[in-house]
Amino acid sequence: MTPAGGNESGQGSRFPRLRVAGAVDRLAVVPGDQLDLDSGLLRSLDRGRDAVLMMEVAGEATQVPCHRQRVVQFLAAMRHFAVELSRRGYRVHYVRLDDRGNTQSFAGELAGAARALRPARVASVRPGEWRLRRCLEEFAAGQGLPYDILEDDHFLTTPQAFGEWMAGRSQPVMEHFYRRQRRVLGVLLDADGQPAGGEWNFDRRNRQAFTGSPDPPAPFVPRTDAITREVIRMVERRFADLPGRLSRFRWPVTRRQALRALADFTERRLPRFGTYQDAMWSGEPFLFHSLLSPALNLKLLNPRECVAAAIAAFEAGAAPLNSVEGFVRQLIGWREFIRGVYWHEGPEYGRRNALDQHGALPGFYWTGETDLRCLRECLGQVIEHGYGHHIQRLMVTGNFALLAGVHPRAISDWYLGMYVDAVEWVTLPNTLGMVMHADGGVVGTKPYAASGKYIQRMSNYCAGCPYDPKQRTGDGACPFNTFYWDFLIRHRERFRSNRRMAMMLGNVDRLGDAERSVLRAAAAARREELGIG
Ligand code: SF4
Repeated sequence: MTPAGGNESGQGSRFPRLRVAGAVDRLAVVPGDQLDLDSGLLRSLDRGRDAVLMMEVAGEATQVPCHRQRVVQFLAAMRHFAVELSRRGYRVHYVRLDDRGNTQSFAGELAGAARALRPARVASVRPGEWRLRRCLEEFAAGQGLPYDILEDDHFLTTPQAFGEWMAGRSQPVMEHFYRRQRRVLGVLLDADGQPAGGEWNFDRRNRQAFTGSPDPPAPFVPRTDAITREVIRMVERRFADLPGRLSRFRWPVTRRQALRALADFTERRLPRFGTYQDAMWSGEPFLFHSLLSPALNLKLLNPRECVAAAIAAFEAGAAPLNSVEGFVRQLIGWREFIRGVYWHEGPEYGRRNALDQHGALPGFYWTGETDLRCLRECLGQVIEHGYGHHIQRLMVTGNFALLAGVHPRAISDWYLGMYVDAVEWVTLPNTLGMVMHADGGVVGTKPYAASGKYIQRMSNYCAGCPYDPKQRTGDGACPFNTFYWDFLIRHRERFRSNRRMAMMLGNVDRLGDAERSVLRAAAAARREELGIG
């Protein structure tokens, strides 16, 4: 291995050139979302005979247009990880984006590594998406190499165990899965096996609107070191056309930084996380949220240690049960459920379009330039930080796409590219399934369609908006309202037998034919104006 020195395109780089010379036994492929220094895969390697392969390829930043902070986060975290592996004695073969001859595709770089390293077998942790899994399988088959796939220690449920839970269920319900997880994992249970505090779920206490106080503590921002600064400069140079601002990069790219972020959350924001978890407030992009999903999805943090930290805060009397239970549910319930659905439903899941929606994504999703204030606020912070919390994603950016009839893949690809925590296993079921109901009801029993009144109740966005959240037609009507009613009219026969939709459809039935026609025409005009088609 050549441990240090410049490379072809970057003499004097702070990131050492890491190359392995000669044949290796096992080639462990580590993509950018598998950065666990303690993974079972790494523990299984013979540091003298095996090697780790890491690849930076431009195709991963452009297959859907990626936010530049997302690109920086992955590349900076990969480089720090490779340096640490090398320091620990692993042989690392690292392909840089700017290396001469980089084919800029995984398939091309895998083939190059096979020529250079002549491995006897290939191994990886289960990849985070079908596409990469197929790529690795085809590579191994093409080279005639055995391919070992190890389970990902960063999940608490294997795809097989999730499949067994799904067997015989016509409608998987996350809440049922979550209670099973609590029992199986022994989390937040009293001595008699009943839920701590007497309830499984404290959501009734967790829907409080924010009023401008108390002041949310500013989250921890890691120091940007020389390796990260170098990546930022490279991304600025090579990906000037990609969306998103880079000036305020704030995401953990090392294990140490991720642990600091976890401690910062549990000490300073967890106590109020639950109460305000659904709230939205202008100029407060983070409120009391954890901001840990990027580090979790890169595998810099393990969900077990996050759950343990939250429960320790509860047991020490430093955080209330409604906050701790809500946070724990996101980790052991929702995160696991979503990932289980992704692998259980198979690679064709991403092509579903159960509501038959085909509209284009409005251009303002990339710029934030719109006079709808809620969207301007939520999109603006995505462009600024690559981040939005779950209610902004579900009830503003997602809800608008659902109601307006945007194609589910168009909005799902936007989520995949624009959020720093996005990986396909999490984005597809959350966006295509939960937000867009395009899976026909696997993730959610009904679409989360809501009018502007919900946004008015949970935020201060409407106060400064030129539209009126009480109107549904007319020039000043809130477009969410116009689209909401049009959505229900369009799909009312489809949802006729869904009991959870009965009240909403009853309201549509009470409208006269003439009013329904006015609403449909107003929605069509608004779609035309916004370029949705
Ligand atoms: Fe959004 Fe409608 Fe409120 Fe304006 S009035 S901020 S468009 S919900």
